[in-house]
Amino acid sequence: MDFSLPYTEEQERFRQEVRAWFNDNIPQAMRAPVDPNDYDEELYSFWRGVHKKLAAKGWLFPTYPKEYGGGSLTPDHEAILQEEFRLSRAFPDGHRGYTNNVILPALLVWATEEQKQKFLVPILTAEKVAFQGFTEPQSGADLANIQSRAVRDGDDWILTGQKVFIGGHGDPDLLYCPMMTDTDAPRHRNLGYFMVPVPTPGLELKRMNLIHGQLNFFIFFDNVRIPGDHLIGGDHQGWQVAGSTLEQEHGGRGQAAPADDNVEALVSYVQRTIRDGVSLGKDPVVQQAAMDAYIDFRRNSLLALRTFWMYTNRTEVTYEGNVSSVHGRESSLRNVIRVRDVYGMYALLGAKDPFAPHGGEQEVNQRGRAGQNHAGGSTNIAKVVLARRIGISRTKERPAPTPATATSYGG
Ligand SMILES: Cc1cc2nc3c(=O)[nH]c(=O)nc-3n(C[C@H](O)[C@H](O)[C@H](O)COP(=O)(O)OP(=O)(O)OC[C@H]3O[C@@H](n4cnc5c(N)ncnc54)[C@H](O)[C@@H]3O)c2cc1C
Repeated sequence: MDFSLPYTEEQERFRQEVRAWFNDNIPQAMRAPVDPNDYDEELYSFWRGVHKKLAAKGWLFPTYPKEYGGGSLTPDHEAILQEEFRLSRAFPDGHRGYTNNVILPALLVWATEEQKQKFLVPILTAEKVAFQGFTEPQSGADLANIQSRAVRDGDDWILTGQKVFIGGHGDPDLLYCPMMTDTDAPRHRNLGYFMVPVPTPGLELKRMNLIHGQLNFFIFFDNVRIPGDHLIGGDHQGWQVAGSTLEQEHGGRGQAAPADDNVEALVSYVQRTIRDGVSLGKDPVVQQAAMDAYIDFRRNSLLALRTFWMYTNRTEVTYEGNVSSVHGRESSLRNVIRVRDVYGMYALLGAKDPFAPHGGEQEVNQRGRAGQNHAGGSTNIAKVVLARRIGISRTKERPAPTPATATSYGG
């Protein structure tokens, strides 16, 4: 079955334009390394500059409104850009920019016009990078249990507390953080959602070195003073604003061009490897493992594409993102086992080993997969949300507003 998307001639011309731009502007030496541990300062500053140039062309956040620094392009353009980003190895995961972009729906839906100018525009134009400061030592899976405090002082807010596991490349310019504004109010009504400039006196970021090799931070707030207009939404609406962030984080925007480099590498390895004079694909055990991996990958792609189609056509996404997220997470763990079954010990050879298949790509995934499945909330919590969305839980839950459902803006 052919799963490829039919593109029009105009779209294919656009693809050629994008590809040519990447070829002309990104030297081979500046392509992302296989192992995130090798992502150095020089690459980081080079790509910060590239992101600004891409934003100016409307290619960094293509479907976001031009008036705020996006491209006002179509979802099909986004799919093409996403594919070309991946092929050019623009970023370790093929992500766009260094901002953790789950902030964008929350700003589009909840920020005032002045706040959009102040926060959304610099993020979309890549002038500023924003990281997500949600998790705390006692509020990961139970995110509503946030304990960090925000106390009013005149027009300002004073922030105190701690965040943990905050991920991203380089140093952020902004953190978006729900903090407790009212110790007497009930859960889900006791938070505010703040944009915290970095650096600010009293704010400290400390590196956490996790096994996957990408950067994560502990963040400490010791009487950090921020202006009153850095609160997005009302001072008791932080959980609701966070909901608009989490809809996207839990898969609710889908993916324009889903891909799985590890499964594609696995299939091509089975196709072209000869072991003891016999094609690897003739081994029934290997063949089965490769097929199962491929089926999981194709299912993931279809689920993510369908959600993307729904989102960009302004159909309310209720459970579809969660199904996609749970299936993606669970199948990724099945696939790391299949990869080990097929490659044997070669799956564990890293980027510096000359015998590592695909430059060490499988090893990076083997090392990072379990941890990555906790980023964005664990699989168990994705299932808790799914159960609520399909009405088989103690509580029911409606999706939070997103740009697809709440406003006339795209994105
Ligand atoms: C690589 C990485 C990047 C991350 N990036 C960010 C980031 O940028 N910003 C940010 O804010 N956070 C980030 N996180 C944090 C991430 O969101 C949390 O790790 C996640 O929400 C789980 O929280 P926890 O680690 O505190 O686990 P805990 O909450 O302690 O949970 C431990 C285990 O118990 C399970 N569990 C807990 N409660 C239940 C329940 N009710 N039902 C069933 N099972 C349950 C969980 O699924 C988990 O397996 C990142 C984490 C990782 C590993």
